[in-house]
Amino acid sequence: MAFSERISRLKSSLIREILAAAQRPEVMSFAGGLPAVEMLPVLDWSQMPASMGQYGMSEGEPALREAIAAEARLLGVPCEASQVLIVSGSQQTLDLASKLFIDPGTKVLLEAPTYLAALQAFQLFGADCVAVPQEADGPQLQALEAQLQNQRPAFAYLIPTFQNPSAVRYSEAKRDAVAALLDRYQVTLIEDEPYRELVFDAGSATPIVSRLRKASWIYTGTVSKTLLPGLRVGYLIATPDLFPHLLRLKQSADLHTNRVGQWQALQWLGTEQYREHLAELRDFYRVRRDAMQAALVEHFSELADWQVPQGGLFFWLKLKQPQDTRLLLDAALAQKVAFMPGEPFFIDPDRAPGYLRLNFSHVAPERLGEGLRRLAGVVRQGLAADAA
Ligand code: PMP
Repeated sequence: MAFSERISRLKSSLIREILAAAQRPEVMSFAGGLPAVEMLPVLDWSQMPASMGQYGMSEGEPALREAIAAEARLLGVPCEASQVLIVSGSQQTLDLASKLFIDPGTKVLLEAPTYLAALQAFQLFGADCVAVPQEADGPQLQALEAQLQNQRPAFAYLIPTFQNPSAVRYSEAKRDAVAALLDRYQVTLIEDEPYRELVFDAGSATPIVSRLRKASWIYTGTVSKTLLPGLRVGYLIATPDLFPHLLRLKQSADLHTNRVGQWQALQWLGTEQYREHLAELRDFYRVRRDAMQAALVEHFSELADWQVPQGGLFFWLKLKQPQDTRLLLDAALAQKVAFMPGEPFFIDPDRAPGYLRLNFSHVAPERLGEGLRRLAGVVRQGLAADAA
């Protein structure tokens, strides 16, 4: 069959395969980035007008665009509703941005590690991805400057607030420094923030796009982690030089985002009910984060190092003795435990062994200890096999 040349670069997503295996009810899954089922809000559709069944505008529902722009301005993002495009989840932002910027060989700058489905999208279009190591407070600045100067990437894709997978939240100082560097080298920023609202400990920091003076930018968010991912409603906000192109790409992709989901999202955004829901979410996840930390201390202290995440949905473990964690998956699933190997979050997975991403929102606290005990056993067996 003669497919397009890009199809040779189309990779299957390991996480989607693991999620399929983890569907079995007897499997304890630390693999996905799923909200806890019990925290999905009950939705009221009774007031939805019949007109929501009609075709809509490619930009999205005007009232929803206004609400998103207003929320973004509260965060310090300078924008008007005319810069907001409603998308089918923030994943679509990555697809549209790829189509806008990437030809085979185009340089794209990422964090190492980074969100694996972003890597998948960029590489499909032939991006030559280059990465900057992630430190506890954000990217290593010297490496960032070197990449910006030498590689001249078409854009930098960053997840500065509770990154997937590392859970890192950039410090204020690094946010300023990154913005200054992007301005200096005039490199477009794509800032992806699905986890901003899932914050458990004090401290907050405004988006990097609000600190830019010259560089173009796309800021993207979603209701997937705060309301429900099944709605498939996200948004991007773009500088006026980028917006018209993104809008046309959206038109050619799917005409517009589902209006039914947009209507539902609008019932929540900016309301008191939404603020209460977010407060409940934070309390619920904080308990799970703390339970996971306690269980990790018990079962993984000898095996791995990690930071306690201050937000988001993940612990990111670095094994003291690196091994290819992809090779542990079958043994873990045989023990009815699923986890996400760390390798696929790097541009060159074979050169980044020894990390595990563990989700803490999904498994009930009373089952955590047993799950992590089994997983620690699998890691120990892997070490023994490596040594043999
Ligand atoms: N970006 C990041 C960093 C994510 O973790 C996710 C979801 N796992 C997405 C984007 C996509 O989210 P959405 O459901 O809005 O498409």
